[in-house]
Amino acid sequence: MKLAWNSPVGPSPDCGHAEHCVLKSGGRKTFQCRCRLQTQLIAGTLFQSTHLKLSVWFLAIYLIGQAKTGLSAFALQRQLGVSYPSAWLIQQKLMQAMVERVTRYTLDGDIQVDDAYLGSELAGGKAERRSENKVPFVAALSLNPEGQPRFIKMAPIPGFNCKAIANWTQDDLGPGCLVRSDGLAYFAGVTDADCQHQVIIAGGRKPKDLP
Ligand SMILES: [Zn+2]
Repeated sequence: MKLAWNSPVGPSPDCGHAEHCVLKSGGRKTFQCRCRLQTQLIAGTLFQSTHLKLSVWFLAIYLIGQAKTGLSAFALQRQLGVSYPSAWLIQQKLMQAMVERVTRYTLDGDIQVDDAYLGSELAGGKAERRSENKVPFVAALSLNPEGQPRFIKMAPIPGFNCKAIANWTQDDLGPGCLVRSDGLAYFAGVTDADCQHQVIIAGGRKPKDLP
C-alpha cells in the first residue's frame, strides 16, 4: 500500500534527496525516495532482509546470552518456534556478531586476569598448563572505578610465556592498564607492553617462579 508523500525530513544519506513516501507490505515499512531508492529501518543491520519478526530475534539474543554452555540450533528451534534452517541462521548470525564485537574493543583501566585451559587431558598427559591436549587462554576482566565488572575477554594464546602475554597485552588491552593476577610469573609480561602488573596472592600461597 502506498501512502502520501511526506514533508521533507532531511536529505537521504544515499542520494541527497529530501522527500520520500512510505510503502507498507508484510507489516514492515519501506521508505522510498522520489528517485525510487528504497530502504528500511533494519537496512545495514544484523536483521537486514529477515522475514521473521524482530521480537523472535530479540528472544534469540536473550536465550543465547543467558545460556552458560551455549545453545544448539535444535534448542533454539524449539524455543523460538521457527524452522530449523531459520534457527541455524539466527544462531550463526548472532555468534558471528558476537565474535566481531569482541575483536573490536580492548579492555582498559583496572584489569583482573587468570590463566584458563579448554579441553581434557589425554591418558598419561601432563596436568593443567603443561598438558599437550588443552588450549590455553587468558581470561581478562575490566573493572569500573567502583570495582564492579565491566567487560570480559577470553583470548586463546599459543602458550603461557612472557612473550605470549606481552603480545596478548598489546592486542587486547589499552595502554597504561593496571593488571592484577595471581602468582603466575608469566603475567609480568604485561610490563613489556606498557602496562603495570600487581600480584595478588590469595590464601597465603607463594608466587610461582619461572622455570
Ligand atoms: Zn533519492
